[in-house]
Amino acid sequence: MKITEALKLVRNRIEAAAKHSGRQADEVEIIAVTKYVSTSRAMEAIQAGLHQLGENRWQQAQEKWEHITKQAENNSIVAPQWHFIGSLQTNKVKEVVGKFHYIHSLDRVALAEAIQKQAVKLDTYVKCFLQVNVSGEESKQGMSLDEVAAFVELLPNWDRIQVIGLMTMAPYEADPEDTRAVFRALRNVRDEIQEKSNGTSSILHLSMGMSNDFEVAIEEGATFIRLGTILVGNEGDVE
Ligand SMILES: *Cc1c(COP(=O)(O)O)cnc(C)c1O
Repeated sequence: MKITEALKLVRNRIEAAAKHSGRQADEVEIIAVTKYVSTSRAMEAIQAGLHQLGENRWQQAQEKWEHITKQAENNSIVAPQWHFIGSLQTNKVKEVVGKFHYIHSLDRVALAEAIQKQAVKLDTYVKCFLQVNVSGEESKQGMSLDEVAAFVELLPNWDRIQVIGLMTMAPYEADPEDTRAVFRALRNVRDEIQEKSNGTSSILHLSMGMSNDFEVAIEEGATFIRLGTILVGNEGDVE
């Protein structure tokens, strides 16, 4: 399917889910997850008006990132915002900071220290989400719900890291309704952080919802949804 067509269908579903829960569709940003697809398909996404791209490994992203960055420098396309959505080893941080505008997988002190160090070196700042493993599934990355508050207390140690929200991946469920409790729990933690800070915390966004469950995520307050299969497809290689 052409991405413009897929996007139209997705936008209708976003609109309906937002309406259903008393929200505005424009409160929800779409990240086009291009990890499964080619450089030309990623270019098609940008030309369709998708200006946020998500990748989960630098190795896979590199060719796309370099090509698209060059095209944007030539003003052939609008420069996208890049989201790193995969788990991140500390020794890979230098490949990501300075290239990706957002990191969705901040989940431990050692990683924060590595991001801070690299950001200082490049004299830059990095927007991050704290990744939370709400469901407790062993295969999932992220800190537990119980660990979030203590981690938030540490954030002033890392002045180059701007934590703008929380991220989670729900387990795959045949019935997406079964993911609702996961998304709601993440929103509740966000609300607790806001309450505790009297509304001054920068932790406002919720990165949650994928192809299978984005409508439920929107109903529970998602502000960034991460869509691969349903939007750009999953032709090609990997995972
Ligand atoms: C791959 C991936 C997605 C997109 O998955 P789809 O089910 O294809 O939409 C979203 N978030 C993360 C963290 C991913 O790794």
